Amino acid sequence: CGIFAYLNYQVTRTRKEIYETLVKGLLRLEYRGYDSAGKTLGLTTGNDNTICIIKTKGKVKALDEELYKKDSLDLEEKLGTHFGIAHTRWATHGEPSPVNSHPHRSDKGNEFVVIHNGIITNYKELRAYLINKGYEFESETDTEVIPKLTKYVYDNRENDGITFSTLVERVILQLEGAFALVFKSWHFPGEAVSTRRGSPLLIGVRSEQELTTDNIPIQYNSVQEKNSHNRPDSSSPIDCVGDGRPVEYYFASDASAIIEHTNKVLYLEDNDIAVVKAGKLSILRVKHQVGEDPVRAIMTLQ
Ligand code: GLU
Repeated sequence: CGIFAYLNYQVTRTRKEIYETLVKGLLRLEYRGYDSAGKTLGLTTGNDNTICIIKTKGKVKALDEELYKKDSLDLEEKLGTHFGIAHTRWATHGEPSPVNSHPHRSDKGNEFVVIHNGIITNYKELRAYLINKGYEFESETDTEVIPKLTKYVYDNRENDGITFSTLVERVILQLEGAFALVFKSWHFPGEAVSTRRGSPLLIGVRSEQELTTDNIPIQYNSVQEKNSHNRPDSSSPIDCVGDGRPVEYYFASDASAIIEHTNKVLYLEDNDIAVVKAGKLSILRVKHQVGEDPVRAIMTLQ
């Protein structure tokens, strides 16, 4: 129901500040549904490759309390680059419960974690396929097929060079229904990938300097006028916002969670895949035709 994610790149924040940003984002979205909130925090600096998932049932307040009980985490630790994803759920498949709340994960090692707004209408088919491949599901949600499918595609990649965005592209080609998604993985530290079809998703950008693409100044929408497309040509992908300078990105399903941080926003269009890598944001458009028999395509992977 509500998505909020935050990535700081070379902007030093304490873990406490990062938590506060994530929780505040969720509070802004809470009015849209608050039966359970899930939040993941992943440390993407140094050699630390762990992703920590915290889930609660109830209001964001309950999640906030849970978060501070994690005494192994040093709240004053300064993090130069970090990507955290957070979600409030409006249950469509599976009762409101901690296990059904988001993020959902590929496996117990949290290799891939996903938050989702919307409904995956072909989840039964995908779930049956993945169970047949040995995957064990822990929730009753439609969402859980997404991280599991991501791991399946990753583990079956043809070479080691697969990018996070290609991976996500392959995954969403299998999905029918409506979704806004944010992915996080310890295979791709410091990287953020987000995509949508039928459910809204926008990205706020905050930087000291004005960001540009190669030559075209990015035309941000202001959050007040959210109807128009933000691209010079909305059919072409944006190739890079930012040039690796310190920057902060906010991903949200609703502008209300972003407005206090920045009024520079980009609205993703259907089948856009937004990637932040080394501080740069690129927005790619899925090349294949949606509905091009994608399930069969993936099922040829052994
Ligand atoms: N269909 C998903 C679920 O039931 C996502 C619901 C939502 O948009 O919050 O978990």
